This record gives sequence, C-alpha cells and structure tokens, in this order.
Amino acid sequence: MRKKIKMDSLFVRSLVILLSVLFVILNTAFFFNKYIMNAGSPTFNDKNDKIQSGTVTEKITNVMPTPTPVKKEVLLLIDPGHGGEDLGTYFDNIYEKVLNLDISLKLGKLLENDGFKVLFTRKEDVFVGLKERSDLANEKDATLFLSIHNNNMPDSPNYKGTETLYCPGSSGNGKINGERFAQIVQEELVKRLGTIDNGIIARPNLSVLRRTQMAAVIAEIGYISNYSDRIKLNTEYFRQEAAVALHKAVKRTLDEMNVKKQPDNRWIISG
Ligand SMILES: [Zn+2]
Repeated sequence: MRKKIKMDSLFVRSLVILLSVLFVILNTAFFFNKYIMNAGSPTFNDKNDKIQSGTVTEKITNVMPTPTPVKKEVLLLIDPGHGGEDLGTYFDNIYEKVLNLDISLKLGKLLENDGFKVLFTRKEDVFVGLKERSDLANEKDATLFLSIHNNNMPDSPNYKGTETLYCPGSSGNGKINGERFAQIVQEELVKRLGTIDNGIIARPNLSVLRRTQMAAVIAEIGYISNYSDRIKLNTEYFRQEAAVALHKAVKRTLDEMNVKKQPDNRWIISG
C-alpha cells in the first residue's frame, strides 16, 4: 500500500517535469518564431525600415514599387474641312476645301519636322463624312483634334476675321479642354495674321467637336465672302503664315499638357 503511494507520487512528479519541459520548449519556439524569424527574413534596406517587429505587412507595403505614370506618345489629328463633292464655301474659283487642305498640309509638315506623329482625315481632294472624321480621332486616341475651315457670310460681305469654335463642356486631355485649346489657337492666329479677332465661339452641336473625345477645335481662318480676307487667303504666303500660327498654337497647347520631347525624339505626355 505504501509502496503504491510512492509509485503514484513518482509518476505525478515525472508528469510535472515533463509538462515543464514541454512548456519551456513551446515558449522557446514562440520566441524564435516571433523575433528571430522576423529579424532574419526578408531583408529590408530601404529608408522606411524603421518600423519594428510584428509589422511585416506594413514593411512590404512600404517597399512596393510606386506605379510608373502612364506615358503616351502624342498623336495630332489634322482635319482639312470638306473635300471631294463637298466644296465648302467658295467665291469664283476660290474653294474652301482647297484652302483648308493646303493650310492643313503646310501645318502637318511643320509638325512632322518637329518629330510629331501626325494623322490627316484627308490628304487629297476626297469626300470624308463627318462621323468618319471623329471616329478616326477616337479610334487612334489622338491627343488633339484640329479642324481647319474658312468662313462665309454672303449677305454681309463686310464681315471678316478669324474665329475658333469649340464644344462647351468637353473634358479633353486632363489639363486642356476644347475651350482652352480654342483660346490658344485664336490668340496665335490673330497675332500672326493680323486678322479681325471674332473670338472663340461655343458650338455644342457641331458633329466633329461633339463626338471627339479629346480637346478639339475648328479654326475658321478667314471669310471667303469678304474681299480683303479672300485676297489674303488666295496667297501662298498667307496660308503658310496661317500654318505657322497653328503650329505655334499646337506647341503651346502641348506645352500646357506637359508634353516633353524624349531623348529618342518621341513627344510624350508624362504625368
Ligand atoms: Zn467649312
């Protein structure tokens, strides 16, 4: 009987010792896991590595690479108004469609000389529908849409000058909307050509301005129905000057859009 009690007490003591050893082992494992493992892996060498133990998730967040801003090459869409059977306005043998195309091609050459990617809705005397013009700009995701026209007011032949049309409320490409683009185009045209300043005009219902998803304007260079505007428009010199003014306007607008020329000569919108 006494011996049985002794055996029992020995068993209980062994059990307590065993449990104590297990407790120590578990504690050591916990400590190892919490501190030693964290300190050893992974290695964070960045300046944000001030946050201490238990914040591995925060550390990983801090060293995630920041997304690089989208960089997009500039594409300029030039739209010579009318063409083919659509003559636009005319006086004697002076046709709007011909003047528009000539100024547009001159402008395109100046922009291409700078290394810009330029696309035309037409480069010849062909008919192009209005929807086709805006569809092309949207499909190609053009940066700016510049339509070139000349005006007509046969009942008021004394009316003359330059105006630039835009669609109100158009969002455009972030920093620049149709209205701002129109202001710049109008300023540069009037400054260089010395024409009467008829200002910028909101035209919410014009197809190419309404449908295009980028900053878009129609530059009406002069009035074919007015004698002095018509005489000027009929000269190669004046049309070249109009192209130079539009070239300056496009460059100014792109500058406001933070467009920069890259070392590989591509024009990129950054940020
Ligand atoms: Zn026109």
